[in-house]
Amino acid sequence: TVLPNSLQARDIAYQMHPYTNARRHERIGPMVIERGEGIHVYDDQGREYIEGMAGLWSVGVGFGEKRLVEAATRQMSKLPYYHTFTHKSHEPSIALAEKLVKITPAGLDHVFFTNSGSEANDTVVKIAWYYNNALGRPNKKKFIARVGGYHGITVASGSLTGIQVNQKGFDLPLPFVRHITTPHFYRFGLPGESEQAFTDRLAKELEDVIAEEGADTIAAFIGEPVTGAGGVVVPPVGYWERVQEICRKNDILVVADEVINGFGRIGTMFASEHFNIRPDMLVLSKQITSSYQPLAAVVFSDAIYQAVADHSETLGTFGHGYTASGHPVATAVGLENLAIIEERGLVQNAATVGAHLQKALRGFANHPLVGEVRGVGLIGAVEIVKDKATKEKFDPPGKVGTYLFERAQEHGLIIRNMQDSIAFCPPMIITEKQVDEVIARFARALEDTQAWIAAGMPAA
Ligand code: PMP
Repeated sequence: TVLPNSLQARDIAYQMHPYTNARRHERIGPMVIERGEGIHVYDDQGREYIEGMAGLWSVGVGFGEKRLVEAATRQMSKLPYYHTFTHKSHEPSIALAEKLVKITPAGLDHVFFTNSGSEANDTVVKIAWYYNNALGRPNKKKFIARVGGYHGITVASGSLTGIQVNQKGFDLPLPFVRHITTPHFYRFGLPGESEQAFTDRLAKELEDVIAEEGADTIAAFIGEPVTGAGGVVVPPVGYWERVQEICRKNDILVVADEVINGFGRIGTMFASEHFNIRPDMLVLSKQITSSYQPLAAVVFSDAIYQAVADHSETLGTFGHGYTASGHPVATAVGLENLAIIEERGLVQNAATVGAHLQKALRGFANHPLVGEVRGVGLIGAVEIVKDKATKEKFDPPGKVGTYLFERAQEHGLIIRNMQDSIAFCPPMIITEKQVDEVIARFARALEDTQAWIAAGMPAA
């Protein structure tokens, strides 16, 4: 029940929320989160929750990190804002760009800052287009992306995204994008097909699409090394090598979207290292500041930089950028955040505690409602099915997943339902003991859900 004049009632009256069913929101109101500490957040009723999704796949260093507050405060006092347009710069943005070039995979030498992952992917599209214009290839503009990929929600990045909810009703995607099969073996592997044969089939699909469109019309391939919003999909061994080889042969840029994977999430600093990806452009956000400040970056090759720079000479300027590109407070917080990740060994923690999380999640593999458990490091998912043998989902899609994550919330665990795959992505400071508590709370929610299904899924 929503009390009149409560925060809930005012929220319903005045705020329209992203990814929210507006009419349902009017009935049930928001969960109002008031503060956070470590891996926990607290609502306005004082209830404690483990933030098992670290908000939206972020907050690696946890909540209440004083060093980030101090870094922001220092920078706020010294220079709260300045832009980076027309030959202006400031120390925090310079230092963070330098740091990113040093820690990202070899061959990535230049940084362009944006405020969000969506804007970073728009920037990727614009850099790729500008680059091909510079090289005198004005027709080489299409992007290949994957069904189930998530790259943002602006008109361009939302076109790269391959998730129906982000496109239906918005007349997306724009026609410059071709979506191909995502390397989700459990869902899209054929009966009796090996992972190797599945990878071969996907490689053939990529080659066929390139042949059909013409390599001279395709600018880039974009993918998340490990998919996030599409349900935490870990590709088969060799998938990325094959994709890369085909793209190189056809002079197609490879873009790794590590907005979720980057800065240690899967147990290596970047997932590109883990999967042997040598991207031409790398997209970073979220964990770059542990989301204490909005910030994203595109890190790209010197070959791209040189062509774009030459073209800008011709046109007089590189006419792209945001008021807050490289914002001093955001970049200062980013620098401090990366220092904390290094000093506290959080990448190693994601590997070791992540292995514990993966093992514990796989303990649910034999549960009658669980089709598959997936993940690597501190990101994982449990896919809910009606029938383990046929992999059939419950009807309507998402209903059981929604029930399950709401029960988890009642048991003090915030997780996320992505089309009946329940995702886990806790802060990177989490301990094995805390992972066990995540698992215990999830087990209770799964029990409730099983009982509800047995009772015929009555309306809540
Ligand atoms: N790419 C990926 C892989 C993401 O997960 C997200 C956000 N979830 C984005 C891009 C878009 O980032 P933002 O929400 O900051 O625009």
